[in-house]
Amino acid sequence: MLVPQSRFACFAIALPLYRVFEYALDASDPAVSGCRYRLPFNNGVKTGLLLTVSDASEFDPTRIKPVQERLDEQPILGEHMLTLTRWMSDYYLQPLGEVVFQCVPAYLRGSRPQHPLRLKYWRLLKPDSDLIEDLRRRSPRQFEICEALLKQPSGLIATQLKQINPNWHPVVKALEAKNLVRWDWLEQPVSAVPTPQLPVLTDEQREVLDAIATRLDHFAVHLLDGITGSGKTEIYLRMIQQQLEAGRQVIYLVPEIGLTNQLIERVSQRLGECFALSHSALTDFQRYQAWDRFRRGEVSIMLGTRSSLFSQCDNLGLIVIDEEHDHSYRQEDGVRYHARDVAIKRAQMLDIPIVLGSATPALESIGNCERDTYFRYQLDRRPTRFAPPPIELIDVRNSRFEFGCAAQTLTRVEQHLAESGQVLIYLNRRGFAPIVMCHECGWQSLCRNCDARLTLHQSVKSLLCHHCGFSQGIPESCPECGHDEVKHHGIGTEQLERGLQQRYPDTQVLRIDRDVIASREALKSRLQQLQSGEPCILIGTQMIAKGHDYPAITLSVVLDADQALFSASYRASERLAQTLFQVSGRSGRGDRQGEAILQTRFTEHPLIQALARQSYRKIADGLLQERRLLGFPPYARVVIFRADAIELKHALAKLEEIRTVLQTTKRFNALSCVGPMPALMTRRIGRYRAQLCLIAQDYQVLRSVLSQSMPALENLASSSRVSWSIDVDAYDL
Ligand code: ADP
Ligand code: ZN
Ligand code: ZN
Repeated sequence: MLVPQSRFACFAIALPLYRVFEYALDASDPAVSGCRYRLPFNNGVKTGLLLTVSDASEFDPTRIKPVQERLDEQPILGEHMLTLTRWMSDYYLQPLGEVVFQCVPAYLRGSRPQHPLRLKYWRLLKPDSDLIEDLRRRSPRQFEICEALLKQPSGLIATQLKQINPNWHPVVKALEAKNLVRWDWLEQPVSAVPTPQLPVLTDEQREVLDAIATRLDHFAVHLLDGITGSGKTEIYLRMIQQQLEAGRQVIYLVPEIGLTNQLIERVSQRLGECFALSHSALTDFQRYQAWDRFRRGEVSIMLGTRSSLFSQCDNLGLIVIDEEHDHSYRQEDGVRYHARDVAIKRAQMLDIPIVLGSATPALESIGNCERDTYFRYQLDRRPTRFAPPPIELIDVRNSRFEFGCAAQTLTRVEQHLAESGQVLIYLNRRGFAPIVMCHECGWQSLCRNCDARLTLHQSVKSLLCHHCGFSQGIPESCPECGHDEVKHHGIGTEQLERGLQQRYPDTQVLRIDRDVIASREALKSRLQQLQSGEPCILIGTQMIAKGHDYPAITLSVVLDADQALFSASYRASERLAQTLFQVSGRSGRGDRQGEAILQTRFTEHPLIQALARQSYRKIADGLLQERRLLGFPPYARVVIFRADAIELKHALAKLEEIRTVLQTTKRFNALSCVGPMPALMTRRIGRYRAQLCLIAQDYQVLRSVLSQSMPALENLASSSRVSWSIDVDAYDL
């Protein structure tokens, strides 16, 4: 029974439906937007997030169910974030409920209660130097901690104590027992501990900082377009420090964590413990903890990957996006969005500056500078002595190969090792070999769920699918014809590692790819090795291509980039140029000139020629010209409708329905519509996929077609038989 004075509230529920849900709220309910409630839903219960409240309902009030229970005292999405989710839902045409729950920490997406984790800190009870001196003799470990606490009267938190002594806990316990030290709950923010020795800024860095400093009070997009190693990170750190001094908070986004440990170390050395960390290697709970600490203002910096963008706080002053061109900023499943673009929107809504940085900016970002909406700063010199190496081509048409390396390449590797350099070899293919087949009958090891080959992984003695995770044993004979031998072809990082290790038994060969870094310890020991500066060979996939700064690396090698020259993707050239400049830029960062080589069979190819002779900036300008002529993004906008089903014909039929809806709109003929057609890898994880692609030179045309169509499209519900989704600003066609 409804109480007469109840109110009506709209809720977002994480469902692929373009609507909100109405429930009745008790008059006594505080009805704070952004709080979660348990809601009766069909015959079960769902979690919903309160959006708005009103006194009237447009539906029959007697048929509206009351909510079951309120889950939050304090909203998990603030007003500003709610506005941002509405914008995302509208811009990306994603169901609001899904967007809303995408923007809260995974830990809170269900009905788990919020329990703010409070931090403890320890301080000296009696800052009595005699007593402490006395400890010096009797217990050096206790002395060490007391001495640190004496220097920091506001106390130290656990992570700080851990830096002094990894096994700090029993020591502090003993001090507590002696009544020398006491803990309390931390109330004030963790203070930044500025390092005394900052590097002297280069003229270029100074100019950039001065220029940005004049525009810190308002929204502006600043693009730092600076060669690898030109000191962009140093600029971010200075800007962040200014914000912290002004009492504001900062979100600092980095690409998907690979070798980002180094960056974290650099930030913490520089700014102390005043940041929270959030990335995919952490548990949901740890990420929630980070989100909560930042929200409460206990830490001033949120340093993390894509979804850290949705961290909330009261006084955000700056957003920094490092390696802004990186593809990991785009979420490609579920709610599709681009973190860079959403971040720019967020900065605009808050009227604060945002800084994007890259040695290889995305063509979109360069295009935006042309249209004069961004400020672009160019940094062309490294503060260290040596410029990034040019890319040198190694013509491998007539070469002898060993595990993917041409003889000429190995000679160069040996030279660098002999001169105590570290060598980086980039090969973007994990596993031992990408192809397993029978030479008698032509059988190939294909995935049973995907249109893809299984990759041979010797380390786990299996054939694995990199798309769906399917795995099977390695057949001893051909499953098709029974021939007693199957062969493998092509080279993956595992095989490269084994080959190099056998050939250079006295040299450390370190492999870093997704298979290895599952173990944090394994990764850590490899990074320590690199840091030590001892000669070694570092092998890896795209994880080692970006973001790190190991000064002992003097040679970068790219083994196999030729495939990209013949890719069907209009983005392939941009991506290849970015990868090559990033990989080559890892070399020569210390006190020796670096070198970079590219193995290729196509030395005369115009793009390969350009890579060897021109700057990224020049190449990007050329690629932008091409895009303009062809009418591709950023000079056009792309929206893709995707469908997947157990049978291909159902996926195609759904897209045909969608096309019919689109065709009824007024301006449909002003855009190009391609499809429905099967997607590139048609079968993936057991489902057939198809797509329908819309391209428009004029965004308004596209927008008008879509907004006229949405009401009808919203009724074409997804089902388990066939589901469909919209991909706005799709990354690829
Ligand atoms: P980027 O982010 O552009 O790749 P970094 O900020 O990582 O460049 O700088 C590259 C290297 O140069 C780092 O080792 C950094 O410590 C050093 N560096 C940066 N700025 C300066 C400076 N002004 N003086 C001396 N060294 C610097
Ligand atoms: Zn066979
Ligand atoms: Zn598969």
